[in-house]
Amino acid sequence: MISRDQHGISRRNISNGALRVLYRLNEAGYEAFLVGGAVRDLLLGGHPKDFDIATNATPEEVRGLFRNCRLIGRRFRLAHVVFGQEIVEVATFRGIGEEGNADRHVVDGRIVRDNVYGSIEEDAIRRDFRVNALYYNIADFSVRDYVGGMADLEKKELHLIGEPELRYREDPVRMLRAVRLAAKLDFRIDESAARPFARLGALLCEAAPARLFDESLKLFLSGHGLASFRELDRSGLLQFVFPSTAAALSKRHGDEFRRLVECGLANTDHRVQAGKSVTPAFLFALLLWGGVRERAERIIASGGDALHAYGDSAEAVILEQTARVAIPRRFSLVMEEIWALQPRFEQKIKKRVTRLLAHPRFRAAYDFLVVRGQADPSLAELAQWWEQIQVADTARLGELFQQPSPAASDVAVPRAARKRRRRRRRKSVVGEGGAPPAEP
Ligand code: ATP
Ligand code: MG
Repeated sequence: MISRDQHGISRRNISNGALRVLYRLNEAGYEAFLVGGAVRDLLLGGHPKDFDIATNATPEEVRGLFRNCRLIGRRFRLAHVVFGQEIVEVATFRGIGEEGNADRHVVDGRIVRDNVYGSIEEDAIRRDFRVNALYYNIADFSVRDYVGGMADLEKKELHLIGEPELRYREDPVRMLRAVRLAAKLDFRIDESAARPFARLGALLCEAAPARLFDESLKLFLSGHGLASFRELDRSGLLQFVFPSTAAALSKRHGDEFRRLVECGLANTDHRVQAGKSVTPAFLFALLLWGGVRERAERIIASGGDALHAYGDSAEAVILEQTARVAIPRRFSLVMEEIWALQPRFEQKIKKRVTRLLAHPRFRAAYDFLVVRGQADPSLAELAQWWEQIQVADTARLGELFQQPSPAASDVAVPRAARKRRRRRRRKSVVGEGGAPPAEP
């Protein structure tokens, strides 16, 4: 037990909602602790966004105390207490319970249901990492450390609780959580926790795609995307979650593709840190571009249908990827548009430029072009041209349109594919994003 004067957690950094839940539970005679990532991040001097609470009250008892409370989850029953925008998650201590006992189910070593309640000590050891098993007690403001999490925080190390192989088999997504936390906190994954990746990484292929989608957003859109990517690549786990990305990194344009992903993720991290919005569509467009390009070039090289090579490989790569990570259709549609608009940036004819500027997906596609320009110097000039055109006054516009266009060969999509796209567009009445049909 670490008393209040021996740790740095101040109630000022805990959300009002979480404090109200903690005090209310405590006043009603229950034990109430802040737990998990919030305690970890508070001890590291961070500002957690979400606060999880652990208590000995059952979900039903929690509901009895709060009007603004709903019970969620069947596999893992929880109470959500809602304060406007904020949701405070309240979980009852999970116990050990024998297999087949009460309400825990294990299938092939995986925990598929866990509603056995127990003591705080039992709750601590079923958590994933030692640094995630620290409890802040609202009754005396002390921190309880049952598994050595405090020492790990000081050493900046991630250790699994218990036998690593067993813990990964129970829930393979813990391997991704290790990578994500190492990236987020700039911690080292302890050798014992990293060693099983090689043998067990493939278990991630069987994880629920919807869960891997959520986990991907946390990996890449939380302000430490670049670090996550590097850690994922280094750990050897990338191939199991983003197979075409991993493959493209080792192929012909691998180095350029790596620069593209890294530049794009660095930009995304800056946006997140500046409080700007980011979209999963742009993220996945980055991660999958290498695979799309590589596949299209393979189709063309082997004498396949060059006209449709890019569109077809976009479709195939998305299909393959969504079997692993459930990217919702509303995002993959935007990804396809971002990719399809890239060749149109080459056409610096005034009418087409005006039309592209008005395209609903212009911004995302232009941002993508900028990142391509950062990764491939031969595209930098084109990206700059488009930057200028957006802010130019009339006189400057005249100048810009007089400049000779950069070599068409700088752009990845071959001429044949471009021609085909134009022809197809003309046939469609609505055109992309409702734009009028292309001029002859
Ligand atoms: P962050 O919120 O920064 O993403 P976190 O550690 O809080 O990280 P959550 O998903 O919010 O992650 O989980 C809260 C806590 O629940 C964790 O700190 C950990 O104690 C426990 N936990 C979450 N997922 C697992 C898991 N797969 N296996 C075991 N314990 C877990
Ligand atoms: Mg959390």
